Amino acid sequence: MTNIRETWDLESIFPGGSSSPELLAQMETVRSKTAALREQVATLSAELNVEQLRKLVHDMQDVQIHLGQCGAFVGCLTAQNVRDDKAKLLQGDLGQISATLQGVFTAIDSILISIPEEKWQAFLEDAELQALSFPLNERRTVAKTKMPPELESLATDLEVDGYHAWSHLYYTIVGDMSIEMELDGKTQNLSMGQAANLLSNPDPKVREEVFHKYEAAWAGRAELFASTLNHLAGFRINLYKNRGWDDVLAEPLQRNRMEGATLDAMWAAVQGGKSHLVKFLERKAKLLDLDKIAWYDLRAPVGDAGKEIPLADAQAFVVDQFRKFSPEIADFTQKALDNHWVEAENRGGKRPGAFCTSLPLSKESRVFMTYSGTIGSLGTLAHELGHAYHGYILKDAPLFLRRYAMNVAETASTFGELLVVDGAIGAANSPEEKLGILEDKIGRSVSFFMDIHSRFLFETRFYEARKKGLVSSSQLRELMTEAQKEAFLGCLKEYHPHFWASKLHFYSTGVPFYNFPYTFGYLFSAGVYARAREEGQGFAQKYANLLADTARMSVEDLAQKHLGVDLTKPDFWEAAVKLATDDVEEFLRLTQ
Ligand SMILES: [Zn+2]
Repeated sequence: MTNIRETWDLESIFPGGSSSPELLAQMETVRSKTAALREQVATLSAELNVEQLRKLVHDMQDVQIHLGQCGAFVGCLTAQNVRDDKAKLLQGDLGQISATLQGVFTAIDSILISIPEEKWQAFLEDAELQALSFPLNERRTVAKTKMPPELESLATDLEVDGYHAWSHLYYTIVGDMSIEMELDGKTQNLSMGQAANLLSNPDPKVREEVFHKYEAAWAGRAELFASTLNHLAGFRINLYKNRGWDDVLAEPLQRNRMEGATLDAMWAAVQGGKSHLVKFLERKAKLLDLDKIAWYDLRAPVGDAGKEIPLADAQAFVVDQFRKFSPEIADFTQKALDNHWVEAENRGGKRPGAFCTSLPLSKESRVFMTYSGTIGSLGTLAHELGHAYHGYILKDAPLFLRRYAMNVAETASTFGELLVVDGAIGAANSPEEKLGILEDKIGRSVSFFMDIHSRFLFETRFYEARKKGLVSSSQLRELMTEAQKEAFLGCLKEYHPHFWASKLHFYSTGVPFYNFPYTFGYLFSAGVYARAREEGQGFAQKYANLLADTARMSVEDLAQKHLGVDLTKPDFWEAAVKLATDDVEEFLRLTQ
């Protein structure tokens, strides 16, 4: 086994971390590009001609590519070291630049919506603009539903300190939180991310202890976080109200380019599959010698999957499994690893969670995670590298055609995860190990069908309640527990009342309702994966074509074009859910 580096390379992007002169210079470039764009816009009106529109669209993308490069880099800095104060200041500066740019974009939108329909359609016959017609039409449609430009622009300015700042504050506080645990005879200070990783510890006492300390730590900050969450939601609701948007799901659905009928069809299919998962959890309880599963047992390993996988082995395994499906994906992944695109080291001071971010200017990605040696961690590695492949497929497209929505964003990641997890089941050395990995895989279905469903139920209800006024921390606890009971069909012994405080996604201002897109991505990906299994390597090119189209059409059109299915009907979803329930049947058979 080779000695590998566990940290990523950021130096090749901007040398010097948060003190990088190159980064500062790039931020200056973004500022001047923004100013130039503003001047350009000031000269334009509904009378603009096709050349002017072409240039405008080009420059809009250009400035965002440069800003995106800085934003991704600074995001990496704040994730790898939550105490990097300079990086936090840079993040603030980027927020300011971004808000200024948003203001310019709002002015652009007001020009776009003032162009008469006939003239607009004529513009879109221009070859260069026609290629971008989906995002351009989308931009115009959304702009038409918003407030007048000067109000939108004011709102964007106020977002910096009145909206995004709450989210940054939350991340900062979480980064500083820790809990003390007695492990291997030593008292250790664990970051919240490290503590969460211990919930898959094979020792039930460790799980229970860490969970109760974890819960207590979030409870200790409940008032602070309840306040944060209320203000974030309050800001969003007020903005929606002023735009005349009644339904809190309108924005997330629009952003995910999907219809409400698709979301309903998906949850209905999920609901139909849940009874299998309850049987699974009951069997799991028996295997763990418990009468009932508690929240902190959900990720407890069964069988032999608790054995530690060194990072080097995990990386090699991911590449091997990818190669069975597509040599192109495997070669790409190997290159990403060789070029140190992945930050995996298990140490304190890192932000919890995992992500993949793309650097639009250098056309590279970076993956962030805390690798803990479990099968779950192996899956996360494959997941994030799947995202990176998606970025690679789109890297040369115009920026507007690289911006896929969150629901299809989870397609490539989940697909990668499925390849690796099924590979691990096939490569298992013993029935015990096979069982362990299968159990972990079904655990993912439990997450997507039950846990994520509970987040969706909670968030929808919380927003409804927040419309009427502030929601207290005890109400938040109740809403959370109720949602969990409902989503898990009441089958758990103990729930996670402060989940609302612990889940970063509830505090994201970039993405409202970051929950159902996960389940969508998982099931959509499962459907694609089923095709891949039927068609083998021959499907690899079709898969790449599907990914290449993810930012060019609605999800309903994407599924129709590449899979020939209607997402608003139950069939596709039921078939995808069945893949998961088949795993449960296999598990029940193996453990009889
Ligand atoms: Zn993901």
